[in-house]
Amino acid sequence: MDYKASDKLLDLQYFGEFGGVNPSISDSSTYTFISAKTMSDTFEGNTEGCYLYSRHSTPSNLYLGEALAALEGTESANVYASGMGAITSVIMQLCSAGDHMVSSRTIYGGTYAFLKNFVKKFNVDTSFVNITDIDAVARAITPATKMIYCEAVSNPLLEIADIKALALLAKKHNIPLVVDNTFSPLSILPAKLGADIVIHSLTKFINGTSDTVAGVVCGTADFCASLKDVNNGAAMLLGSTLDSYRAASILKNMRTLHIRIKKHSENALYLSQNFEKDGLRVVYPGLKSHPSHEKMNNQMVAEYGYGGIMTLDVGSLDNANAVMELMQERNLGYLAVSLGFYKTLFSAPGTSTSSEIPMEEQELMGLSNGLIRLSIGLDNDIERTYKMMKKCMLDLGILR
Ligand SMILES: *Cc1c(COP(=O)(O)O)cnc(C)c1O
Repeated sequence: MDYKASDKLLDLQYFGEFGGVNPSISDSSTYTFISAKTMSDTFEGNTEGCYLYSRHSTPSNLYLGEALAALEGTESANVYASGMGAITSVIMQLCSAGDHMVSSRTIYGGTYAFLKNFVKKFNVDTSFVNITDIDAVARAITPATKMIYCEAVSNPLLEIADIKALALLAKKHNIPLVVDNTFSPLSILPAKLGADIVIHSLTKFINGTSDTVAGVVCGTADFCASLKDVNNGAAMLLGSTLDSYRAASILKNMRTLHIRIKKHSENALYLSQNFEKDGLRVVYPGLKSHPSHEKMNNQMVAEYGYGGIMTLDVGSLDNANAVMELMQERNLGYLAVSLGFYKTLFSAPGTSTSSEIPMEEQELMGLSNGLIRLSIGLDNDIERTYKMMKKCMLDLGILR
């Protein structure tokens, strides 16, 4: 991979209104025009660099979008009030009544519910497939298919999508490949592997402080402009607008993303290797035992590692609940959903973030009841953390 995402990101130079080292925050919902003619031109989308109304765009949101386009190496990017705001805008923009989508079956619970239930109202149908089986993906494509949708590293099973192969397949059918890259910023650069549209929930690693929800769509300048078109843009019309103050704070957090990702990855690799040695069932893309370990090696940016998310299967929901409660009691992290925080976060996806997925389907995709998803924190002494976590498992009889 010769695209140096963090150099592109850190090379961006900003000057605030008074020469500040951070861009000024635009604290306005609406903008004045000197001439009435410019106002009507702007409504028609003809005036570059003019602001209209903050649901359309704001200077602060454009700065954050610019940084995210640099991160993913796309022409442009639009930011949203949540990851779901980004995902639903893309789907509503690309699909009309009677259309069809092919999606990975292991995706974020909210995205799954949107595709499985909500878009039924608009007569949009989705085939859910095993995304690691390219032939199955190809077989699911019909003349009505408008996109292939997947996560680069899937939630919560950590399946790895072969983005190059999926992009080739999408090209062959002249449809876009849309990739949610929330689990693997910097480690995987989907647009550089051929994806057409890259989405993130900024709520997770990219912001990294668990204090806000936000999202982004990275793509061509044309596609990003179409999303905010005043007459037909899903984002403009559905209104999932990010506030400028939050855009400014996320931009500042992005400056340490490269350091944080390396540390999350280093810590997760250490814990997964050691828990696997102890005989626990661990899923982590950095382990040789992971079914897509080689595929991950072939498409990742090595210096950022295999990411901060791992799963442990402790056999039963009772075990999972007991160990999570004990780990929280001993200050090893929080029993909470979400990811990318400086402290470890853990949850049992079967009964929380993936509970939208019916039980029998969870079983089919290998999502077992005793599964714990851990978003590993930035612990400075991971050996100490490992020993303390292991002690929890020993005290509960999960390990002997
Ligand atoms: C959290 C998450 C989302 C949804 O993002 P929000 O910011 O919570 O709306 C989408 N995809 C993935 C993979 C996520 O982890």
